[in-house]
Amino acid sequence: MAAVTKLRSSNEPKDLYEIGEIPPLGHVPARMYAWAIRKERHGPPQDAMQIEVVPTWQLGDEDVLVHVMAGGINYNGVWAALGQPVSVLDVHKNPFHVAGSDASGIVWAVGSKVHRWKVGDEVIVHCNQDDGEDEECNGGDPMFSPTQRIWGYETPDGSFAQFCRVQSRQLLQKPTHLTWEEAACYTLTLATAYRMLFGHPPHILKPSDNVLVWGASGGLGVFGVQICAAAGANAIGVISDETKRQYVLDLGAKGVINRKDFKCWGQMPQVNTPEYEAWTKEARKFGKAIWDITGKKDVDIVFEHPGEATFPVSCLVVKRGGMVVFCAGTSGFNITFDARYVWMRQKRIQGSHFAHLKQASAANKFVLDHRIDPCMSEVFPWAEIPLAHHMMWQNQHKPGNMAVMVNAPSRGLKTFEDVLEAVGQ
Ligand code: NDP
Repeated sequence: MAAVTKLRSSNEPKDLYEIGEIPPLGHVPARMYAWAIRKERHGPPQDAMQIEVVPTWQLGDEDVLVHVMAGGINYNGVWAALGQPVSVLDVHKNPFHVAGSDASGIVWAVGSKVHRWKVGDEVIVHCNQDDGEDEECNGGDPMFSPTQRIWGYETPDGSFAQFCRVQSRQLLQKPTHLTWEEAACYTLTLATAYRMLFGHPPHILKPSDNVLVWGASGGLGVFGVQICAAAGANAIGVISDETKRQYVLDLGAKGVINRKDFKCWGQMPQVNTPEYEAWTKEARKFGKAIWDITGKKDVDIVFEHPGEATFPVSCLVVKRGGMVVFCAGTSGFNITFDARYVWMRQKRIQGSHFAHLKQASAANKFVLDHRIDPCMSEVFPWAEIPLAHHMMWQNQHKPGNMAVMVNAPSRGLKTFEDVLEAVGQ
């Protein structure tokens, strides 16, 4: 803590700091820089997101102010910029929206009822919030609370700013072996994948289960594959580009299928039409490719998120009594499936959404124990946060999870001490 003590005495408190300039520990400047989205700017991320100076967030009793070192890029920021399917500004009613649902950073201030964390703690943030008062939050499943909301999406105070405001129960231990940027890139997708595979009993992932993982090289998919491998299950990863095949195999997938080799995507055609016959033929060919990997076994679980493009096939290939668990509809929400097969074979279609604290913490243990890698792909500077979102939107990003630098002055730093040393404070 020597550097922290020195910083306290040598740095005059100001009301606004430049990005990368570190205030005295615990000093909260009145204003801060943020990438703000406003309703009148909804559209492509590079138009919607603009740097503004905004008031630093006021804290409630159970809130924590985090000095953000790095943030993670995910689809929440894309949807928030586009204003689709809804404008998040209509949800939280703040005049501007700061996106960013993943962060690593340093606890900078705490509300009066926060006892579990203190100023100076090095943390990462998971993105589930709730009011904590109802039955679901107290003995039930907080994800079923009517007050459940996603921080940095349904709240305006996300990580693409010098400071973010979170509830104390959003904080998790930062793995000490990871850099700030690595630590910031994974929690949203990892915890979502964890709940999808462990959160819906009795369809809990078991050793030897076969799991079809869509988008296996994407943010969610890399964790779908790694969780299966860590649990002794067999992931069958789907890709759209041969350059991703070895990457997915190296994550521990049992086999990989390239969806470009098949033509059964989109909504299910009307039954008893030539289109339906052609679709069925292709979908069965896809099922055969799965069997080639599993040894003629249907998959126990389908890890689904593309939605409209893949849902009919997901519901076809899952085994009798198996589960299609989905958390998104990236290619469209107008999902179709052949209901006859779903009821006759008693398949379960299960929606899933992020994770509660216990699940996020259990997911983080895989990382703390070095069993799961964050799969950080690219790291963008603060100035390129909109570009990173644009690349995700256009599916032009590299495999894995993208991080962005916020206040961490350079890559490769792991502690607050490292940061102070790097900025010469
Ligand atoms: P990524 O873009 O990192 O990965 C998605 C992958 O899906 C891509 O790599 C791509 O892989 C594949 N894909 C894209 N389009 C299609 C398509 N038409 N058919 C089949 N596969 C397709 O995104 P994430 O994994 O981070 O997120 C995926 C979705 O999940 C997003 O919509 C996001 O908003 C949502 N999400 C929801 C959460 C929740 O809690 N509800 C939490 C996290 C994410 P390839 O081209 O190689 O097949």
